[in-house]
Amino acid sequence: MKDSTMTTNELYDVIGIGLGPFNLGLAALLDPVAEVKSVFLEKKKAFNWHPGMLIEGTTLQVPFFADLVSMADVRSDYSFLRYLEAHNRLYHFYFLEKFHIPRKEYNHYCQWVSEQLNTCRFGMEVQKVVPVSLGSGDNVYEVTVWNDELQQTETLFTKHLILGIGSVPSVPEAFQSMLGKNVFHSADYVSKRGVCAEAESVAVIGSGQSAAEVFLDVAKEQEKHEFSLQWYTRSKGFFPMEYSKLGLEYFSPDYTRFFYQLPQEKKDRLLKEQDLLYKGISSDTIAEIYDLLYERTVGCDEPDIELQAMTEIVGIERNGKGFELHGYHRIKEEHFVDQAEVIILGTGYKPAFPGFLSEMKKSIAWDENGRYKVKEDYRLETYVEGEGDIFIQNGEMHTHGVGAPDLGLGAHRNAIIINTIAGRDVYPVQTKNVFQTFGTKTASVPVPF
Ligand SMILES: Cc1cc2nc3c(=O)[nH]c(=O)nc-3n(C[C@H](O)[C@H](O)[C@H](O)COP(=O)(O)OP(=O)(O)OC[C@H]3O[C@@H](n4cnc5c(N)ncnc54)[C@H](O)[C@@H]3O)c2cc1C
Repeated sequence: MKDSTMTTNELYDVIGIGLGPFNLGLAALLDPVAEVKSVFLEKKKAFNWHPGMLIEGTTLQVPFFADLVSMADVRSDYSFLRYLEAHNRLYHFYFLEKFHIPRKEYNHYCQWVSEQLNTCRFGMEVQKVVPVSLGSGDNVYEVTVWNDELQQTETLFTKHLILGIGSVPSVPEAFQSMLGKNVFHSADYVSKRGVCAEAESVAVIGSGQSAAEVFLDVAKEQEKHEFSLQWYTRSKGFFPMEYSKLGLEYFSPDYTRFFYQLPQEKKDRLLKEQDLLYKGISSDTIAEIYDLLYERTVGCDEPDIELQAMTEIVGIERNGKGFELHGYHRIKEEHFVDQAEVIILGTGYKPAFPGFLSEMKKSIAWDENGRYKVKEDYRLETYVEGEGDIFIQNGEMHTHGVGAPDLGLGAHRNAIIINTIAGRDVYPVQTKNVFQTFGTKTASVPVPF
């Protein structure tokens, strides 16, 4: 470990890397905590929440209480209700009578919060993080950042790091060489969807919420421009995501606590069985798609639309103006070939190891599957000596369960992180939040017979 060349005014208590909703919520909740000196660094020029999927008419999949702060502090200046008040929209929202706000409005709300926090710095890409010694046995992290406006690097130092870099689009290996103007991931949909209007055939692949929203939007476009539309998924059906009230309790601090205590093999098995808790389609979107199909078939009209589940697209090959899709029906065990000029991959997102930590790979503890080992309070297990810690946001599904990417749990996770860093209960954490019991009610007893 190298020695530090730091001066004290460059030392922060907390540097947050990435400004998605989770680190932005942390910045907002840290704002009134004067004893913690923090800065949050984001490579984009301004806050922008999944801009490629800001499709007109789409909404958050969680109630507006899942804003940046309310579930930890309803009195915060940065709540969604305070945002409505500041924009003179309280009565509009009151008469709207909806819990699920437009995605566009959630983005605007987050932008409003980010513009008020002088701890949020945009156009700042973190390039490298290394631990450096202060000489006294203590360490801090040296963070090298590319300042896009000044076109130069800056060096900052911090006791704690908070990784809030989200996940990256997942594209199956077999399709990667095809990516371009006409084959793209749903994360790029809004900027690239124009190509559908010029095509004769469009295929959407996948059956998560993003794939369904893209399919619906393309189907609406098809009313104006004639092209054939196919929707394929290897899943057993176009199934809804769990949204019953008792099912939602799995996205609670209580379930997270229960899950955390389980042995890792059990966690891995459970997660595989819980796909539909977080991977399906919202029933509202399914209903909208169905209604559109019903309307379009009135009078025995036959729109050129096909939906096919249980069907995996195993390969894509260029073919003249368009592409050949090589499909495999997983139940009939049959192969087939189809054509499309535009292919949109709603194939989800995956965690990615951040390049800026490359020099620290050996200082981080990994489990046998190459994933971070994460403590209950979201600190990574590391071999770095001294007090400084690295916390993770939304990279701990394997240790903390299905709620890791859920916006409704962000403020709760941030309350725990802040309390750990401050060494006091800045934000009280509620314990009994659900009606059901996830573990056993009393301490376990030996098997009676
Ligand atoms: C389209 C879509 C809709 C979703 N809707 C919902 C929903 O309704 N409800 C729900 O509960 N969940 C939803 N999710 C899931 C999830 O909670 C969100 O994706 C959320 O944005 C995750 O927040 P985050 O802070 O972890 O990361 P992100 O929002 O992905 O933000 C990470 C940020 O880190 C920045 N970054 C990365 N590397 C660096 C670096 N080296 N230096 C500086 N900055 C860096 C990136 O530019 C990015 O801005 C949705 C996901 C998607 C994709």
